[in-house]
Amino acid sequence: MDYLPIFLDLKYKNVLVVGAGDIALNKIKLLLRSNALISVISKNMCSEIRCLLVQKKIFWIAREFKTSYLKNFFLVIAATSNSELNKKIFQKCNKFKILINVVDDQSKCSFIFPSIIDRSPIVIAISSGGKAPVLLRLLREKIESILPMRLGNIAKIAGDWRSIIKKRFSNLLERKHFWEKLFNSVFVQYIINGKEKKAISTLKNMIEKPNKLTGEIILVGAGPGNSDLLTLRALQVMQEADVVLYDNLVSQDILELIRRDAKCIYVGKRAGIKSITQLKIIKLLIFLAKQGKKVVRLKGGDSFIFGRGGEELEAAKNANINIQVVPGITAGIGVAAYSGIPLTHRDYAQGVIFITGYQCINNFTNNWSILSNSNYTIVVYMGSLKALEISKQLIFHGRLKSTPIAIISQGTTINQKVIIGRLDELDKIFRLAISPSLLIIGQVVLLHKKLEWFKNSTYFNNSKTISSIINM
Ligand code: SAH
Repeated sequence: MDYLPIFLDLKYKNVLVVGAGDIALNKIKLLLRSNALISVISKNMCSEIRCLLVQKKIFWIAREFKTSYLKNFFLVIAATSNSELNKKIFQKCNKFKILINVVDDQSKCSFIFPSIIDRSPIVIAISSGGKAPVLLRLLREKIESILPMRLGNIAKIAGDWRSIIKKRFSNLLERKHFWEKLFNSVFVQYIINGKEKKAISTLKNMIEKPNKLTGEIILVGAGPGNSDLLTLRALQVMQEADVVLYDNLVSQDILELIRRDAKCIYVGKRAGIKSITQLKIIKLLIFLAKQGKKVVRLKGGDSFIFGRGGEELEAAKNANINIQVVPGITAGIGVAAYSGIPLTHRDYAQGVIFITGYQCINNFTNNWSILSNSNYTIVVYMGSLKALEISKQLIFHGRLKSTPIAIISQGTTINQKVIIGRLDELDKIFRLAISPSLLIIGQVVLLHKKLEWFKNSTYFNNSKTISSIINM
């Protein structure tokens, strides 16, 4: 982060603007919105600033700038057309540790003005640090368009009732749940539609008949890594969570989207590596939910696909805890899409089968004769440890050695790597792959050459047959 966004309280603070042309005017108008005490140094001024002077909204020092003026100011804006003077003001402010912004010269700013979306008391400030103003403008338009104009009224009414609610719900968690319930209720719509009386009676009703604090466990699939692939519902519950228990497949980008005040607990497990046991995770989930907390269990991909989500929910149900499930894009679907491999195709595959290379507790064995039917695409999760066995079994049961395969590492993320090869090279290729990686086996892999769109792939050296098929 090049700049830390903070909100300054400029109420009744002395702010100096040097210069009184159009550029200075924009800044003065902005500063007036924060009720700063504005002094302007200039010999002349534009008509609009003069108007503000007549209305006694600003003070005027009708002199040349002198360093001694700086003493009483908290913040300075240099908006003159004289670059030497601007430079001098910048240097002096730095010396006296006064916040300074030289308009249109970012190298001479100790702070910059963000782009503002004002729904006071809700204020959203965004900035590209001066790097992409057009992108910033587009973003701002998007944000403006999704925020109702009367958002500020919602916040104002909430502010008016804050101390009453605080007295009524002394428990922090209860209070948080009250507000969440209120903001998710018809209260908001009433205010947006200008029906404030009705909104307030809804609020009073909810104060009088509050719901008992009940915890719950929400199983959330975070998708295969790229945060753009989160569902809207996942984002909502991540924003409402009291506690989040997350796995190592959940990317940093996604963790950043969790509500700041939520407690995040890492309970990562990896195939073949000993770490926190499943039993301990389940006990922790139940313990937290029984305290009345909204517990989000965040997992990579989809929780019901090789995610042990079912086991966790069964335990929650047995403990009489409310549950919800938010589906995620499973790696098989997401990674295939980002590597341009359609898992089914009328010319190549009749269906798709998801399997795990990891041994299940009950030692289920694969039905190799079905898997070796070349009409089906096979997607193998956690395949790296059993790569040799998988390829041997498939070939033994009739799949061609030259069957195309793709191994996709860190799929859907900016580090995605796709290696294309043949089934009889599976073991060697896996040694080149970084975890997590997914294996796709079947004729559909041939389509990758034509349909890849996200990042470039590698062809395994020895895959002569594959290369020749693809180049045909
Ligand atoms: N529940 C998860 C799967 C968990 S098993 C889901 O639905 O996706 C973990 C395995 O998923 C990894 O060993 C790997 O085979 C696969 N996987 C998960 N994310 C992946 C990614 N971004 N790229 C490639 N493979 C991935």
